[in-house]
Amino acid sequence: MAARILDGKIIAQEIQAEISTAVAAHIAAGGPMPGLAAVLVGEDPASDIYVRNKQRSCKRVGIASSLHRLPGSASSEELLELVGRLNSDSSIHGILVQLPLPQQIAAERILDAIDPAKDVDGFHPYNVGLLVQGRPRFLPCTPHGVLQILARCQIDISGKHAVVLGRSDIVGKPMASLLAQKVSPVSPQCCNATVTLCHSRTVDLPSITRQADLLIAAIGQAKFVTADMVRPGAVVIDVGINRTDGGIVGDVDFSAVSEVASAITPVPGGVGQLTVTMLLANTLVAAGGSYTSSNHRDGSR
Ligand code: NDP
Repeated sequence: MAARILDGKIIAQEIQAEISTAVAAHIAAGGPMPGLAAVLVGEDPASDIYVRNKQRSCKRVGIASSLHRLPGSASSEELLELVGRLNSDSSIHGILVQLPLPQQIAAERILDAIDPAKDVDGFHPYNVGLLVQGRPRFLPCTPHGVLQILARCQIDISGKHAVVLGRSDIVGKPMASLLAQKVSPVSPQCCNATVTLCHSRTVDLPSITRQADLLIAAIGQAKFVTADMVRPGAVVIDVGINRTDGGIVGDVDFSAVSEVASAITPVPGGVGQLTVTMLLANTLVAAGGSYTSSNHRDGSR
């Protein structure tokens, strides 16, 4: 069986077109042009690419973006001072601090210092609390992207068993929380799952992944999920981005697993495309505009 490919690129383009329309409507109604400030510390080439992509995407949808660079030797205090300035700049509605930060900087202190109203990554403890309580202000970008893929491809997970691999604060934990909620901010089909959250201490992982109707891999291990770990007919979402000699690959062995799964996201061209896109949606929301799932039409793919 060859799985249906869930094309993140097409979905991202569709959502970006919707955001572009929503930004124009927001400005036409007298709202401010949304502004996103990206903070980049050091010279990590991958971070450089991510930030440039985010800036390009901002431009495409009519969001202003600015880049604030600090040297790799910067101290926590210097970065806190920059975050403080961005917090009080009224033309900036969203602040993203590109991770990872150099070792000498306490990332937690920095992320906690971002004004929660400008925390478009959704990492601030206040916003995490709102999310867990089921009344999110900003949906974290990658889990939100996954929900958009599920909703727009009309994959109903209500009552199904979702297994999430990885428990990071950025992907795994918010993903599990969103899937388990009673009401979804994206679509009624994207919640009420029975969720199992796995990690590196999980015993006999394959026996758990084989129970999954929906398997989401976010562990950062190239091609870790093999065909024998997947229940025939399961939907597989690959969040992983791993740089190998053979190029970028996900956490899932795509060619083997696509023979077993009913649907699968590719890497590249899957979830990664949505992460940047949902950041744009959050920036519009931070500027007082609105982007909700009601902006999208349902359509089967
Ligand atoms: P982290 O390194 O923060 O977390 C990895 C998680 O995976 C941890 O919970 C860890 O367990 C678990 N894990 C690691 N190895 C195993 C294993 N062998 N078996 C079971 N669990 C394991 O990673 P992130 O969540 O930040 O990122 C995960 C992947 O997603 C990476 O490849 C990253 O590049 C990618 N990513 C992609 C994005 C996108 O836009 N597509 C956005 C963000 C991340 P433990 O907690 O026990 O250590």
